[in-house]
Parts: sequence; structure tokens; C-alpha cells
Amino acid sequence: MRFLIMGPPGAGKGTQATAVAEHFGVPAISTGDIFRANVAQGTPLGVEAKRYMDAGEYVPDSVTNNMVRDRIAAGDATDGFLLDGYPRTLAQVAELDGMLNDAGHELDAVLVLTVDREAIVERLLKRAEVEGRADDTEDVIRRRLEVYAEETEPLVSVYDERGLVVAVDGMGEIDEVQGRIFAALDARTED
Ligand code: ADP
Repeated sequence: MRFLIMGPPGAGKGTQATAVAEHFGVPAISTGDIFRANVAQGTPLGVEAKRYMDAGEYVPDSVTNNMVRDRIAAGDATDGFLLDGYPRTLAQVAELDGMLNDAGHELDAVLVLTVDREAIVERLLKRAEVEGRADDTEDVIRRRLEVYAEETEPLVSVYDERGLVVAVDGMGEIDEVQGRIFAALDARTED
């Protein structure tokens, strides 16, 4: 299985990605987590990424694409992966197409978590209290939602035209959403 999980900030991608990846026996690769780990370790990549992340902007493709290319070439991802947070722009879609094509692979599915806008801001503000992420302040959350709508939402139609989209309602309890995801993906992989 090579697949993506998409959805606006606060849709619960990270939480669900871990469980889904485990279910399919592939690594969950989160670009946000990789960036945050680099920020925490103070690597040059982290220093560069932090400037953008703290403002709710996307890290430049020149940084992000190479990072993903290296990560999916790693040994644990040769048989599959679940990408969380990449691609986020049309240029990244083309880049990922190239990476997969070079390796003779293709995507099996794009899982899209749908959520209600109002609920998202609330979830993110709550997460801010618990996790203390630097980009979970109200202004930055607003900006992240704007950037998502402008840059990333259009990707759903691109993948839909390829027949890859599996849309799942992301509202409700974590377990409830997880159940919907497994049902939808299992139905698809049995085809
Ligand atoms: P969110 O829940 O806000 O979607 P993520 O953990 O996925 O959070 O990402 C956090 C931040 O990391 C983003 O706001 C962005 O600055 C940066 N980032 C993650 N993935 C990408 C990407 N594919 N391209 C550019 N920037 C990215």
C-alpha cells in the first residue's frame, strides 16, 4: 500500500495516520513531524523550516521535496508508506509523481478526512493547551486554514480525477473515525 492522508489542519490526520499505517503494516511518514523533530534538534533544516511553520506558511518546496524523496527511499518504506502532510501543493504532486515513477510505483489511494470548519479551530486551540505547538495560536491557525484552502484543497480534485480519493467523515470520536477509515479502505483494497 502506498497512500496519502489529506485534510485541513486539525482534521486528525496525525492521529489516524498512525493507526491506519499500523493496520496496513507500512510506516506513517508525517512531514510535519519530521520538521518538528528537526526544529527540536536545531538542525539546519529545522532552523530553516521553523521560520515558515511559526507563521503558518508552507516550508519551501526546495527543502520539503528532498526531505520526502530521502525518507520514502529508506528501507522501511520500500514496500509501502502512508504519507501525512505531503503533497500540499500542485508542484509537490508533480514531484511525488516523479519520485514514484522513478521507482516504478504508483499511489493506491488518497484518504481525505472531511471536517467542519468551526470544529477545527476549537480542536486546534484545545490541542494548543495540551501539546503547546508553536503554530497553534489563533492567528496562525487562521493562516494555516487559509493556506490549506488556497494551496492544498485543490489537490483533492486532482486525485479525484485519478479515481484515488476515499473520503471519510472525520467528525466524531477518534475510534469512530478510525472505524470508518478501515471500512472505507478495506472495501477499496478488496476491489
Ligand atoms: P497541520 O495539522 O497544521 O496540517 P502538520 O504537522 O502537518 O500540521 O504541518 C505543520 C507545518 O509543517 C505546516 O504548517 C507547514 O509549515 C510545514 N509543512 C508540513 N508539510 C509540509 C509540506 N508538504 N510542504 C510545506 N510545508 C509543510
